Amino acid sequence: MTRLSDRVLNMSESVTLEAGARAKALQASGKDIINLTLGEPDFKTPPSIQDKAIEAIRNGSASFYTPASGLPTLKEAIQDYMKRYYDYSVATNQIVAGTGAKFILYSFFMTVLNPFDEVVIPAPYWVSYADQVKMAQGSPIIIPTKQSNHFKVTVAELEAAKTEKTKVLLLNSPSNPTGMIYDKEELLAIGQWAVDNNILILADDIYGRLVYNGAKFTPISTLSDEIKQQTIVVNGVSKTYAMTGWRIGFAVGQPEIIAAMGKILGQTTSNPTTVAQYAAIEALSGPQDVIEEMRQAFEERLNIIYPLLAAVPGFEVDKPQGAFYLFPNVSKAMVMKGYQNVTDFTMAILEEVGVALVTGEGFGAPENVRLSYATDLETLKEGVRRLTAFMKK
Ligand code: PMP
Ligand code: GLU
Repeated sequence: MTRLSDRVLNMSESVTLEAGARAKALQASGKDIINLTLGEPDFKTPPSIQDKAIEAIRNGSASFYTPASGLPTLKEAIQDYMKRYYDYSVATNQIVAGTGAKFILYSFFMTVLNPFDEVVIPAPYWVSYADQVKMAQGSPIIIPTKQSNHFKVTVAELEAAKTEKTKVLLLNSPSNPTGMIYDKEELLAIGQWAVDNNILILADDIYGRLVYNGAKFTPISTLSDEIKQQTIVVNGVSKTYAMTGWRIGFAVGQPEIIAAMGKILGQTTSNPTTVAQYAAIEALSGPQDVIEEMRQAFEERLNIIYPLLAAVPGFEVDKPQGAFYLFPNVSKAMVMKGYQNVTDFTMAILEEVGVALVTGEGFGAPENVRLSYATDLETLKEGVRRLTAFMKK
């Protein structure tokens, strides 16, 4: 008999981390693999940020615990950041910092969900949301969206999914995996629907500064006072500042929820790693020009790789506006190659031409695969060349 809990037995692996680990293990064994799995900038953390971390180690301030919900100076940096980029004034008791946006999301679900409370998640969705909701004993309610509507959920679809148990709507714009962005009118309509129905909005804004070709990110939290009251914003330094390994994320919202999330952190992680907090302060408050350089590099890669990918036989892909993923529909490609299941199709690509992608299955999208373009252009071009060869074989 297994000793494992039902909770863990019912959980899925994170398909992104699993695919990333598989690709790295194959590379380590000497295989020639083009790894397009993880959403992780290929840039090193900017030197000014590294320096502040080293300084905090040397002067001893990194040696100690901090308050579980983060250093007061980190909260002040987040406060300023919210003012600068959202024009959103918040008090420091409306801010909690934790070990990556991923754990912040989990502590949010643990904070607000009672058993069977429903969290509405438009699909395609980032892989960890549904399992985190289940870990917190809630029920993920997945609403499929249409590629013809740029994978965006409509108020009519939300209304059809609503029940007495609906407690949270999860909104991730720009989206992982589709890269789509909701515009102001769409967000106003969705925000008003949430206010009218007293449904909390969890706005995962982690890709908010990674937008391309003139696209604009509108934070739903800033659209009206009522919507602001109803919204918890989740963000972090991983993607914007090339700091995935440092593990700093944060949430901003109503003091009652924020304080309760802090209680969860106090009983689980304690504070996020102190040295990483000092690095995050510098990231959020220091010079931002290096961020723009990275954004421009992603934009250039997108503009070059998108038409090449769209030309791969059987791959149908919309041009994303933000984040750093391409999410082609491969249903025609699967028919052409005789596959019925997208995970099998993804594995065949890995085995036959050595290109590591992530199956759409973990994103609630069984006809799609995900490529991350947070890697250098030569690798990307070689990846697409091999995908073309695979389809033509
Ligand atoms: N939200 C989304 C949509 C993501 O893609 C990620 C990727 N890691 C996260 C949250 C979590 O980010 P982190 O834990 O690295 O801050
Ligand atoms: N969020 C990134 C991705 O989707 C990193 C891996 C993860 O945390 O899932 O690839």
